[in-house]
Amino acid sequence: MLVRRRKGYSIILKQLNGVSGVARQNFSFAHELGHLLIQKYSVSQQFDDSTKHRLSRNRQDDEEQLCEQLAAEILMPRLAFEEDGWMEGWSINNLKALARKYGASIPATSRRMIDLMPETGVMASWKPPLKSAAERPKLLSSYCPSSRYQPRNSVPRLRSWLITRASRVRQVQTGFAPLVDRNSGLVTPKDVPAEAWAWGHGEFNKVMVWYYPDRELSSDQKSLSMGLTRKAV
Ligand SMILES: [Zn+2]
Repeated sequence: MLVRRRKGYSIILKQLNGVSGVARQNFSFAHELGHLLIQKYSVSQQFDDSTKHRLSRNRQDDEEQLCEQLAAEILMPRLAFEEDGWMEGWSINNLKALARKYGASIPATSRRMIDLMPETGVMASWKPPLKSAAERPKLLSSYCPSSRYQPRNSVPRLRSWLITRASRVRQVQTGFAPLVDRNSGLVTPKDVPAEAWAWGHGEFNKVMVWYYPDRELSSDQKSLSMGLTRKAV
């Protein structure tokens, strides 16, 4: 949180440990700096000198969203980040290295990459099934710059093989995954090329999936996808 003092401000951060804890602290710190920037340049009239802190996701107002963008800009400056993206490649393969380099969390770095990559990308983080094979992965969050595409909340078991495989192998997996295209007027998801990568251990294990709606499926993927559709899943 950001607290006004007699001289200046204090930014108070929750104590967190480990690489991912520090990454989250960095982002929170940059987010609070965002509030100060907004105040300094009077972008927002809503700022009222009272204590500011990060609101829960579903209560974010405009200023909160702007601060999230400012935090991404402070932590991962566009010019430097874009250069790294072009050098290393805009692939989920490079997500971890870029997160390390910029001291940002995996989700924040992923969002930045999706925003700056030259082609349309959609990201979603999934909680893979823990043990039982009958369980389905759960959608934790998703992001698409244009909000045109949306991964479906619940994916049938046979269609979630990319997520399940990535969570077991723990190396980047490529394949396809279903995505709903809001512009098509259909609620039926279409299979699009995708990459998946797991991070975090034990109960914190999550799978990041990147979807590429503008890419074509390979002929092998196409026949596999059609096979799944015939099985009505
Ligand atoms: Zn805030």
